[in-house]
Amino acid sequence: MLATVTAEKNAYQVALENFELAANALELDDNVRAMIKYPERVLEVAVPVRMDTGRIVRYQGCRVQHNTARGPAKGGIRFHPNVTVDEVKALATWMTWKCAVVNIPFGGGKGGVTCSPKEMSIGEIERLTRRYTSAILPLIGPDQDIPAPDVYTTPQIMAWIMDTYSMTKGYPIPGVVTGKPVGLGGSLGRNEATGRGVFYTIGSSCEHLGIPLKGARVVVQGFGNAGSIAAHLLDSNQAYVIAVSDSRGCIFNHHGLDIPKVMMHKERTGTVVGFPGSEAITPEELLGLDCEILIPAALENAVTEENAHTVRARIVAEAANGPVTTEADRILDAKGVFLIPDILCNAGGVTVSYFEWVQDEQHLFWEAQDVYNRLERVMKTAFQEVLRIHLDRRTTMRTAANMLGVGRVADATKLRGLYP
Ligand code: NAD
Repeated sequence: MLATVTAEKNAYQVALENFELAANALELDDNVRAMIKYPERVLEVAVPVRMDTGRIVRYQGCRVQHNTARGPAKGGIRFHPNVTVDEVKALATWMTWKCAVVNIPFGGGKGGVTCSPKEMSIGEIERLTRRYTSAILPLIGPDQDIPAPDVYTTPQIMAWIMDTYSMTKGYPIPGVVTGKPVGLGGSLGRNEATGRGVFYTIGSSCEHLGIPLKGARVVVQGFGNAGSIAAHLLDSNQAYVIAVSDSRGCIFNHHGLDIPKVMMHKERTGTVVGFPGSEAITPEELLGLDCEILIPAALENAVTEENAHTVRARIVAEAANGPVTTEADRILDAKGVFLIPDILCNAGGVTVSYFEWVQDEQHLFWEAQDVYNRLERVMKTAFQEVLRIHLDRRTTMRTAANMLGVGRVADATKLRGLYP
């Protein structure tokens, strides 16, 4: 059984408990557990920033490298008022297993600054980013630790990180960070990578379960980057996206929504609400719609023990990180719902980040179709590997994914002789 976040239990404790569950299933010995359970490095930094008023505000930041047995640390930087060191440690831990699940040669890292970017000017955010980059400079680098965007950090912010780092060396080093604008060494296809990866794992799930994608009814909670791209690809492949939502509301049309037009409507108005020809429904109604595929693509803890029994989907695809709680996992499992766990389902983003890093290191850039083809191979291979463990070990898809990730890191640790 997997642990989940509650008021009493923080995300890091959950990450540690989930590690133990996978380690027990793998019968890992104590020496290996001791080597891979906890972060290798945790750097806490002060980030003083001169605000537009002239006042200096001291922000608190950190960078965590959880594990580098398989390669340099990789993981996003989060600018959010709720960032804590424990949250960043948890996210770094999950990155380690996620990179291992898709078998890319990276370890897990994560960083964050506790701040409210929505209340800051562009100039203040740039100064914060540059000061934070200087503060974590001893840890990052294309061969050491490669940051990326996360909540409230954008391609522009990645460009400032690249510039600040490069200034200390005296020449451009694009490989220090991924998720950059394409004009600065970013990869084609990075922006849509997570949604595309979600689409590939849904395709593989449908094949496994014998559900035709053509005509399948899809519901998407959270019509942002990951959710809207997945919806668009499913729509283009003749599935019916019957409902989508964002933080402002939910829309429904049982004949299927015209997704490109919903995207344009959101672009124009800032929300999916009010899309012509759609019916407004409540978030509770959206989760309980009769459909083949439900994609929670917004926030964590969206499907809980309170609402899991209303879910009628046959497949739940976790585009978001941690959208289904442990209790909900159990309820969905008992109902026979097929879950695509987050560390597999949304790993398309880090996979194309890896492709970006490879292109930067080689100074050789790929066409978009190359990126899509390689991403498809990676996601489909990872899906089959997780599915095999799920079937052979008669375990949930979530435990199977954790076993694959933890197992690969354990193997690398043993091969390197990194344990006594
Ligand atoms: P985003 O900000 O582009 O989109 C999030 C969407 O969710 C927005 O449309 C927002 O309005 C909506 N939303 C917020 N609260 C909601 C609610 N209560 N009900 C319905 N909708 C709500 O973010 P994103 O990049 O698409 O990320 C979404 C999730 O996917 C996050 O959990 C993120 O960690 C995860 N993820 C994203 C990536 C990536 O590359 N974008 C990679 C891995 C994981």
